[in-house]
Amino acid sequence: MTAQLLSGKTFADAIKQEVKDEIAGLGYSPGLTVVRVGEDPASAVYVGSKVRTALEVGIRSEEIHLDESVSESDLLAQVETLNARDDVDGILVQLPLPKHIDEKTVLERIDPLKDVDGFHPVNAGRLMQGQASLVPCTPAGVIEILKRSNIEIAGANAVVVGRSNIVGKPMAMLLLNENATVTVCHSKTRDLADVCSRADILVAAIGRPGFVRAEHIKEGSTVIDVGINSVSDADQLPNFFEGEELEKRRAAIDKRGATLVGDVAWKDAMQRAAYFTPVPGGVGLLTVAMLMKNTIVAAGMRRKN
Ligand code: NAP
Repeated sequence: MTAQLLSGKTFADAIKQEVKDEIAGLGYSPGLTVVRVGEDPASAVYVGSKVRTALEVGIRSEEIHLDESVSESDLLAQVETLNARDDVDGILVQLPLPKHIDEKTVLERIDPLKDVDGFHPVNAGRLMQGQASLVPCTPAGVIEILKRSNIEIAGANAVVVGRSNIVGKPMAMLLLNENATVTVCHSKTRDLADVCSRADILVAAIGRPGFVRAEHIKEGSTVIDVGINSVSDADQLPNFFEGEELEKRRAAIDKRGATLVGDVAWKDAMQRAAYFTPVPGGVGLLTVAMLMKNTIVAAGMRRKN
């Protein structure tokens, strides 16, 4: 079997177009503010892409960039200011934050109605109770990929590897809300390969390159790779890739010094799965698109309240 690749770009473009069309009919432009602290290079890239995409779809968007040394109380005051501003519909504080700031305290200070990342405990609780409105963007994007690819979720045996608050847990809840039979695995799970190999839908959100191998993948299943890992050692590549893809990745390391590898060994998923999301070019592209969707949801909710 050769898996069919599920292109994130196709789905992300469709969602962005839907958001753009919806905004055109709203009579106002929703506002998104992204707060970035410090100089983490990956955060700068992510925030840049969020602000640019927002502008593309007709969302008013701004970045507030604070110095690495900002105190927790000053950051909280900034969040309070944004909570109070009527022209701000969505607030996103880019993670990770510097070590002297408690992320939990900051995320809990965001008005749940403006919490476009869906990380606030109120929104996590609503998701748990099946009344979600603002859902974490990455797992919400996975559901969009599955639905838009006509992959049946109801009744499917779904296994999520990873239980973080931003990916694994909300992913499991969303799959459960769509009537899948869900198993959540983590670093203490016994016989992980055995559990995974029974999954019709396998979601890997672990943070280890190529960790999911042939023995984890059921023949004919759907494998969703959430992981984003930077690999710079070309000698590792044959563990994950073969053929043309291997050559492409070697060339990427030669040119840029690194290549992005998911949590799933690409060659194994290609051989065993029916559908597979590539990294890069899969789930990651949906995350930003779903943030746009959350921003119009937040704007609508605030105007209703
Ligand atoms: P995280 O907070 O580090 O969580 C990783 C999870 O994987 C934990 O629950 C951990 O288990 C589990 N795990 C680690 N080693 C394991 C093992 N050997 N066997 C089974 N489970 C294991 O990571 P995260 O924030 O959820 O992110 C996961 C991956 O997704 C990362 O590569 C990240 O870069 C990527 N990501 C992508 C996007 C996107 O837009 N595509 C967005 C967010 C994250 P324990 O709980 O037992 O420690």
